[in-house]
Amino acid sequence: MNAEVLTVGDELLIGQVVNTNAAWIGEQLHQAGIEVVRMTTLGDDEDAIRAALDEAFRHATLVIVTGGLGPTHDDVTRQAVAACFGVPLVFDEAVYAQICDRFVQRGRTVPESNRAQALIPEGFTVLPNPVGTAPGLWYAEEAGGRRRLLAVLPGVPFEMRVLMEHEVLPRLRALDGRRVILHKTLLTTGIGESHLQEKLGDAVSLLGPDLRLAYLPGTSGVRLRLTARAADEPAARARLEQLEAVLRARIAPYLFGEDGDTLEGVVGALLRERGLTLAVAESCTGGYVCHRLTNVSGASGYVTGGIVAYSNRVKIEVLGVDPAVLDEHGAVSEVVARQMAAGVRTRLGTDVGVATTGIMGPTGGTPEKPVGTVWVGYAGAHGTDATLHRFAHDRRTNKALASTAALNLIRLHLIGQRRIRPEG
Ligand code: ATP
Ligand code: MG
Repeated sequence: MNAEVLTVGDELLIGQVVNTNAAWIGEQLHQAGIEVVRMTTLGDDEDAIRAALDEAFRHATLVIVTGGLGPTHDDVTRQAVAACFGVPLVFDEAVYAQICDRFVQRGRTVPESNRAQALIPEGFTVLPNPVGTAPGLWYAEEAGGRRRLLAVLPGVPFEMRVLMEHEVLPRLRALDGRRVILHKTLLTTGIGESHLQEKLGDAVSLLGPDLRLAYLPGTSGVRLRLTARAADEPAARARLEQLEAVLRARIAPYLFGEDGDTLEGVVGALLRERGLTLAVAESCTGGYVCHRLTNVSGASGYVTGGIVAYSNRVKIEVLGVDPAVLDEHGAVSEVVARQMAAGVRTRLGTDVGVATTGIMGPTGGTPEKPVGTVWVGYAGAHGTDATLHRFAHDRRTNKALASTAALNLIRLHLIGQRRIRPEG
């Protein structure tokens, strides 16, 4: 079943109020297995609302409207709804009595304008509003094999949510034609989205309207969100698992986790499982690698310490990097990355050492070593390894990406995807 959300209010169009109603309703409908195909925002204009309703029902079975149900002359949603359905507005005594009660309970008199809120389009069901004056409206029609469902709700987010939860969602859950939607997120790192897509190859031929794949890049890598829709949960799960198995087979080395996992959490778990300790030497990341590792509870079980070796002097005096090597190759070089990793491993007495050295920008780049050039070093019991990266973002993003590269290099060694390599 398709749905459209129509949010009404001049304040939304001028950015004075953030349209939280649309986002919240979208999430709720999605969870209920109803596909939202469009969201429209309109000013307080009767003709525009009416036209938008007509248009919405052309491609959606369900339309949810919020806003413009208030008592003042700028609230015109009920008139637009009545016009769209070609029915008169009928004064509802019972609704009016409830509105009056709310005022009387608070010791207030009832403003004449509130009579407007008791006007109900003929044939509509009143959705009682326990937390405000404007009731919601519901309409369900089945004609000529075609179904039209309409919920009209107050704009006040709290009132809208109460009516959705108590009145609208229970009605929607009772309908057939809903589909189950399941998600799974696979977390990859060390590969960009276009290369990832190349690796997936003809696996994309599995995809269609009921099986989707979204690429969500971030500084820890590209998340792959898999979505399956089906008539029931077992069918949706089967489709999701089928796609997942195919994807996993093609991109295994890049996959580090799923759903709520983090790269630092995964690396920490690998270190703990293997009983290994880690030391970090950071130049360009300035402590970011250590920060991420120590964001994981229990990190004290494997993180021994870290040294921010920003200047060459600290690289030489604290980590034991060879001054001649620094002179010859510069700080941002493979050999320095390896010596930093080996140095911090020896000086802090750990099983594993990791190091970063790079140019984060925006200044400091050269033709041979442009901004974004990063070497990551790794040291283990049998020697060292290093990887070269070229990032092309702003300084902070480059730092985050460099820290991801360092965490990933540890991961690749711990799972045997990379081995100690001689320099070159
Ligand atoms: P009431 O009966 O309380 O007047 P109403 O249906 O007329 O309700 P509006 O006047 O359109 O609602 O909006 C009431 C308040 O709710 C507005 O001040 C606005 O801040 C907020 N609001 C309206 N629409 C939205 C929306 N889509 N997202 C977030 N807030 C909204
Ligand atoms: Mg309004």
